[in-house]
Amino acid sequence: MFDDIPPWMVVFWWTTFGLFVGSFLNVAIYRLPLEDKTVSRPARSRCPECKTELAWSDNIPILSWLFLRGRCRTCRCRISIRYPLVEGLTALLWGLAAASLPPSDLALTGVRVLVLSGLVVATFVDFDYFEIPDEVSIGGIWLAVILTLLIPELHEATWLARVASGTADGGIDRFGALVGCLGGMVVGGGVLWLIGWLGGKVFGGEAMGFGDVKLLAAGGGFVGPGGVLVALMVAAFVASIVGVGNMARFFCLTWGRAGRRGRRPELGRSIRVARIAGRYLPFGPYLALGIGIVLLYWNHVSVLAF
Ligand SMILES: [Zn+2]
Repeated sequence: MFDDIPPWMVVFWWTTFGLFVGSFLNVAIYRLPLEDKTVSRPARSRCPECKTELAWSDNIPILSWLFLRGRCRTCRCRISIRYPLVEGLTALLWGLAAASLPPSDLALTGVRVLVLSGLVVATFVDFDYFEIPDEVSIGGIWLAVILTLLIPELHEATWLARVASGTADGGIDRFGALVGCLGGMVVGGGVLWLIGWLGGKVFGGEAMGFGDVKLLAAGGGFVGPGGVLVALMVAAFVASIVGVGNMARFFCLTWGRAGRRGRRPELGRSIRVARIAGRYLPFGPYLALGIGIVLLYWNHVSVLAF
């Protein structure tokens, strides 16, 4: 069926579909942390300021935002650029997922776009609220088990799944895939929990957020034990670069402000502000980045997994 369609066309359709899913993810990001709203109720989106229901023509991904120049049609209040950004990002990720697999691999492409969509929601909710919704993390854990049983090929590249399968041709059976899935969850959740627990013991203060632990456990269910360790390495690497940059920015801000007010800049105060700024960095978005990279490009990054 896919022999007659050029591969770029398949990628194009997944990308377009992702654009519309991105609109739905915006709704999920907005509503999941609020307790009195569910994703399906109320059915129509409203302007957060004037509560006017949006017409379908104001809901076209990216285009409506551009056409209305980022303002509500009724009350002219500003609508965050994040809405079209989430839509564009989702479309891009769906396109990358489609391009990462042969066009005929519908089931695996479907799993990848589903996981990436969950990671987008986790990322932006974590940026706003410093927490990851259980719908994504615990939902992801259940989904990983169910999809692994339905589509064992999901763990074709998982070393543990291949060992546990015990098939003569090195293929993956249902039992082996499940072992790879559960192993990934235990390693992902366990390692992060252990790091948080040790960090709490050594440095005091609050331990690693449990939302991060659940998110990495869910990720491990999809990419296996080796994959989830690489995802954590990528996350820690990128987060430390961003964290140091963030601390440097706050250091310079505090230092410069003191200078402009004619006071002598205080080194101690600037360092204190920078340290506090460094502590309040959500880790979920970086875990999501790591899981996403491993999910799409395991054949390229697997060299990192000894
Ligand atoms: Zn409005």
